[in-house]
Amino acid sequence: MNRNHFLKSLCFLPTLPMMSNLNELSNYADTLSLSPKMPVLFLGHGSPMNAIEENQFVKGFRETAKTIPKPKAILCISAHWYTKGTKVTAMEIPQTIHDFGGFPKALFDVQYPAKGSPELAKNVEKLLLPNVVELDDKWGLDHGAWSVLKHLYPNAEVPVIQMSIDYSQPANYHFELAKKLTELRNKGVLIIGSGNIIHNLGAIDFRNFDKDNYGFEWAHEAHQILNSYLINQNFEPLFDYKKLGKAVQLAIPTPDHYLPLMYILGLKQKNEKLLLFNDKLVAGSLSMTSVKIE
Ligand code: ZN
Repeated sequence: MNRNHFLKSLCFLPTLPMMSNLNELSNYADTLSLSPKMPVLFLGHGSPMNAIEENQFVKGFRETAKTIPKPKAILCISAHWYTKGTKVTAMEIPQTIHDFGGFPKALFDVQYPAKGSPELAKNVEKLLLPNVVELDDKWGLDHGAWSVLKHLYPNAEVPVIQMSIDYSQPANYHFELAKKLTELRNKGVLIIGSGNIIHNLGAIDFRNFDKDNYGFEWAHEAHQILNSYLINQNFEPLFDYKKLGKAVQLAIPTPDHYLPLMYILGLKQKNEKLLLFNDKLVAGSLSMTSVKIE
């Protein structure tokens, strides 16, 4: 991993417009037969290179997929689709978006040919009412989604839609919005938030990218603080994360990679367990900490 690769991954490439053929509005939930209740996942995605590298984190993604029922569809909230207002991809065939620059050709060659689900998109639109959701036919699957889904479901046989993160809203808004999606868990839909809880790209130590559980002092401190709220299932202080001290402020300099976690916490029900995995620091200023709620 070199510095250019990583920094360029921040740049969004313009995406090609894509025509979609929206099905007639149907109640997607009604068309799905009864399914076991799906868990909810927050996945720390880290470097886009995780899509094509073999390491402990992608192994963690694979192992987690083995522990959950096969979903009928996936709804992914990725840090890399950060918009004014909330959008949901509603095309039949989402394109694989390579929303980074400067990485090896092998990464640009990756395609994740999962189908979309216009029906599920319409259902999400309905569930989130009166919040307004825009049905989108231009986005697709960005690397926040496909770099992890590739390990969970390498054959891309499960339809995937993405929901964007409204950057104009605070953390608790996203936490509350997620609750409206709860019934999808009983309909075979796996809801995944993809980001990184600790994510300070400006501070990354590229010389130590491969050092196990390597974090700066402040990153270890922030990791301990944030994990204690997660483990104790005390989520409210996490909404006002800027009040959690200097270490947490350094850990979350911008909210884009943190907010997908709010969706996953919002979906947790009282009697459910919260499990952490891939719970390590990387390159000084990133965490791969992932969460499973079941
Ligand atoms: Zn990212």
